[in-house]
Amino acid sequence: MIHPKELSKYRGFLLHAWSKFRWGGSSWGIVVAIVLSSPITVDAAETKSVLILYSNESFLPANISLGNAMVDQMRQGYPDRIEFYSEFLDLVRFPGDSHLSRTADMLREKYKGRDFDLVISAGPQALNLLADRRHALFPDVPVVFTGVREESASWGELNRATGILMKLDPLPTLELAMKLQPQTRRVVVVSGASDFDRAWDDLARERFRNHESRLEFTYLSGLPMQTLLERLRDLPSDAVVIFLTFFTDGEGEYFLSADAAKLVANASAVPVYGTYDTYMGTGIVGGCMDTFEEVGRETGDLALRILAGEKPENIAPYFPGKDLSIVDCRQLARWGLSEDRLPARSDMRFRQSSLWKEHRSSVLTATFVLALQAALLIGLLFERRNRILAELEADETRRELTHASRLATVGELTASIAHEIHQPLGAILSNADAAEMLIDSSPESMDELRQILVDIRQDDLRACEVIERLRALMRNRELELQAIEPNELIENVIRLIHREAKRRDVAVHTELAPGGPLVIADKVHLQQVLLNLLLNGMEAMSELNQPKKLFVQTQLQGDNLEFLVQDSGPGIPTERRSRLFDPFFTTKKEGMGLGLSIARTLVEAHEGRIWVDDNCHIGLGVRFTVPLAQKSLNETSPFACVSQEQTG
Ligand code: ADP
Repeated sequence: MIHPKELSKYRGFLLHAWSKFRWGGSSWGIVVAIVLSSPITVDAAETKSVLILYSNESFLPANISLGNAMVDQMRQGYPDRIEFYSEFLDLVRFPGDSHLSRTADMLREKYKGRDFDLVISAGPQALNLLADRRHALFPDVPVVFTGVREESASWGELNRATGILMKLDPLPTLELAMKLQPQTRRVVVVSGASDFDRAWDDLARERFRNHESRLEFTYLSGLPMQTLLERLRDLPSDAVVIFLTFFTDGEGEYFLSADAAKLVANASAVPVYGTYDTYMGTGIVGGCMDTFEEVGRETGDLALRILAGEKPENIAPYFPGKDLSIVDCRQLARWGLSEDRLPARSDMRFRQSSLWKEHRSSVLTATFVLALQAALLIGLLFERRNRILAELEADETRRELTHASRLATVGELTASIAHEIHQPLGAILSNADAAEMLIDSSPESMDELRQILVDIRQDDLRACEVIERLRALMRNRELELQAIEPNELIENVIRLIHREAKRRDVAVHTELAPGGPLVIADKVHLQQVLLNLLLNGMEAMSELNQPKKLFVQTQLQGDNLEFLVQDSGPGIPTERRSRLFDPFFTTKKEGMGLGLSIARTLVEAHEGRIWVDDNCHIGLGVRFTVPLAQKSLNETSPFACVSQEQTG
């Protein structure tokens, strides 16, 4: 069995392996995890103290991105607690030896007596500080540096140190720009005025030298920001801009490079490419670069190895970077640059998702459902149109039927109406004769003459009324609903059949609801229904030897006025009652069987109901309803009937 002390020697390696494989999801990672968490006890590590020295200020996006990834990696990969100390030295904004000395003194004073297990430096300036003052600052503490180029000489002089290197080379970014824009003839290189910016400018001049034969380079370094932006606005279309770093402008104004990149990308008349991934999203097209997040994670892993006991001098500084081309898809679209020209495995950021690309099957399903619904709707609309046409046709047929029935009714009544008209005309004639005779015999009897003239006038009016009613019946017209006084209407109808009733020796009785409740009805149609029922009643009693009686009653029933027309005839056998309202059902030789069918149609057109009253023990009673004009009437007027007898 491995002794715990021996195991601790391998712990660094195991932790490194663990953190490597954990992200890859490899089964090796699981095996290592099992080993680490197995019951074999490792010396319980005490809390480790780590000091991180950042070259720049805390707001620098590179610091934030690298620092967060590194600390997260260490926290997740280390089994015990790590106490982190951090210093943002701001050495780019405050360059020069005196500030360097002040900073070193401050660090020495501040951390006197505190034992660190590891010092991490982020960026070249912090590394330089450590290299210069190693004997005064944390002399024996292992150092992990990060965020520096291979060429940064100072790390080679630093004992007990290892680190993560970055390429930070502007050349691959220029090559990416040439791939995307092969027609480019001019390259404008932008950088600021700080020492750090100038170092980048020097590097770019050196790295771009081989391209000078085919491209025209312009270096806009250390200009005041406004001057720079104006120059960029006027660039010709065959140019591209390579943005390096920009911490200070020509007037000494300080910038975060990402902020400066945003201003430059906004102002430039041509696409801008950059050298740091922290510029992505500011408006630059992209570049070939290491990401600070990746560098941060690698630094965290390296720091864990040192904390676990590995010696820094045994680990050579290395490049974890992948030289990845990173582009902003929105900027590709803005400048009309083709994705096809990009190297394989480029990191495409800010891709605007297209609904069709992302949810093709959902879009297809939704389209299909919508099409189905549309087809269903069209089908329903056709169906509705056909139904309306059919209803219109049925209405027309019904109107024609009513008219035909009216003509039939008029035919039936012609004889009695002729008689009716004949009677007042005869009366007029005899009154006129009497008047002539009076004038001839005794010219002074003026009173009698006046009475004769009154009679003539009344007879004439009656004849006119009969003719008018006949015309109303003949007219084929729509339903004309209005408030009608039913008692008056009933009396009119009775007056109309008066002669016929007398001829047939039929007595007509009425029992009408008092107070003259108004109904909503078409006057002519209502008359027709009543006429039909009364004539049917009279015909049914024609063979009767007993007294012949017709009874008309109205009474309030809820929101309706209910009519009853009853005769004292033979009635109708129960088995035939159900067919009474069927069209063409007749028991008469000359009958058409349309009267009751039409009566039902007319009543129903008034939203009423018509039926045979089964409780009438004498003759046949037919009831029908018509809506009242004032629905509240029945609440205020108690039910009562008045009876009156009229004989034909
Ligand atoms: P029609 O009078 O042309 O026969 P109707 O539709 O008015 O057509 O009447 C249909 C049938 O109903 C009549 O033939 C008759 O048999 C029966 N009927 C109608 N009213 C009465 C009634 N008051 N008493 C007995 N039978 C009647």
